[in-house]
Amino acid sequence: MEKNTCANLHPQSMCPAFGGLRVLTRIEGARVCLVADQGCLYGLTFVSHFYAARRSIMSPELMNVQISGGTMIDDVRATIEQIADDPAVTFIPVVSTCVAETAGIAEELLPEKAGNAQVQLVRLPAFQIKSHPEAKDVAVSTLLGRFADFGAPKREKSLLVVGEIFPVDAMAIGAVLQRIGVESVIALPGTELEDYVEAGKVEACAILHPFYERTASLLEKKGILTISGNPVGAGATAGWIEQIGEVLELDMETVRQVAAEEKEKAATVIEKFANLSGKVIVAGYEGNELPVVRLLLEAGLDVPYASTSIARTALGEEDHQLLSMLGTEIRYRKFLEEDMQAVMKYEPDLVIGTTSLDSFAKERGIPAIYYTNNISSRPVFFAAGAGTVLGMVAGLLGRKDVFRKMKEYFTPTLP
Ligand code: SF4
Repeated sequence: MEKNTCANLHPQSMCPAFGGLRVLTRIEGARVCLVADQGCLYGLTFVSHFYAARRSIMSPELMNVQISGGTMIDDVRATIEQIADDPAVTFIPVVSTCVAETAGIAEELLPEKAGNAQVQLVRLPAFQIKSHPEAKDVAVSTLLGRFADFGAPKREKSLLVVGEIFPVDAMAIGAVLQRIGVESVIALPGTELEDYVEAGKVEACAILHPFYERTASLLEKKGILTISGNPVGAGATAGWIEQIGEVLELDMETVRQVAAEEKEKAATVIEKFANLSGKVIVAGYEGNELPVVRLLLEAGLDVPYASTSIARTALGEEDHQLLSMLGTEIRYRKFLEEDMQAVMKYEPDLVIGTTSLDSFAKERGIPAIYYTNNISSRPVFFAAGAGTVLGMVAGLLGRKDVFRKMKEYFTPTLP
């Protein structure tokens, strides 16, 4: 495949800080102080509201005059005070983006508390944090570093689950964990700042997505055992349940029984799609693409190429090795151009990609759907998740002819 040059690079993803805003604006009582130049502020508030943040974001004016005049830090402090005037605000994350970080924000010059609110700086410049999933990791690890009560006695049989997941998946995970004997579960990123405090008291942590590297490393340093992987597909589901049983020293007979039942349920669902065949390209920028590819491969589909915006990480290494062994070419920190070349090279029957790639595929008569809206917004875990994802893929593969006819209809024929 052609190597990228500067000439064919294309904007690849939204501003990374968006990932941090997604985590921070969800917290009850939080009001973000966004330190960004006016263009970034417009884009970031737009995209946050587009994804239904429903939270006000406040920002000091940050233009050349403030940077060159040296008033930025005073303006940030004044904005924090203004936000803190509202007694309902209990948390003020100060999100520092590219321009502010380049100019330099000294954390020690910010208050730790203002009014009723805790104040915490979260640094999210794109020149350091390359993708929005990784910005979620920065936000979660920063909040844990500041608020988690690591010094408190550990709660027995307690688990922290890290990963932004569909609500039905959270319920399914909760039900399975209860059956194997887990007594308390905290899920992050969540809506309560208190959960970040309580997260310091867990015995172990399950990191569902491979980009939560800083979070995993912080927890390990604090003596919390972490496991990677997720319950996607039959084999991985059983392995994930058993790993939790082992780190929490649960009754392994019960754990193995539940693991076998869940594996069987997922395998039965996957078997229903045994007649499914086709070539699928998965090219998202969410950082959770590889488990989905694993599920498609388990169902017998051919996935010659997968790409993501995140870097290759130790937490995702197992998937990387397995998928590579099964013949999937994997691109990390991908460029749109690489995805487009893959579409031309592999001529897939379905593309689950980014909006730009989907347009490119559809122009060629290939069915294509947006990864974020179609995968990240539906359950993927356990048997129910396998059924939902494979059902959707089966429906789309069945529509290949419709796309071909549509392309023919709109292709002008020369007289
Ligand atoms: S300049 Fe930085 S903060 Fe602004 S939109 Fe671009 S990546 Fe985001």
